[in-house]
Amino acid sequence: MAWTKLMGAAALGVVLGLGTGCTQDEPPTAMAPATDAAVEMEVDPVCGMRVDPRTAPKVEHAGKTYYFCDPGEKADFEKDPEKYLKRDE
Ligand SMILES: [Zn+2]
Repeated sequence: MAWTKLMGAAALGVVLGLGTGCTQDEPPTAMAPATDAAVEMEVDPVCGMRVDPRTAPKVEHAGKTYYFCDPGEKADFEKDPEKYLKRDE
């Protein structure tokens, strides 16, 4: 009868040990910013938002490439690029 208690305690210890081992491998996600931290973000000239150049709609204008948070803003920019570029300076 004492054996079953010992076995139970040992099994519990193993489970707890494995549990802490596992959680230590996972960094707390709250502190880590997005995985995009390594990516250089571009500024959307229409709204000033930062956008990911890998996925954002883009337009080339006057030798520069501009990125947008959505295709609607890209269209607005194409209609009147000067309006947005002047606001920037
Ligand atoms: Zn935008």
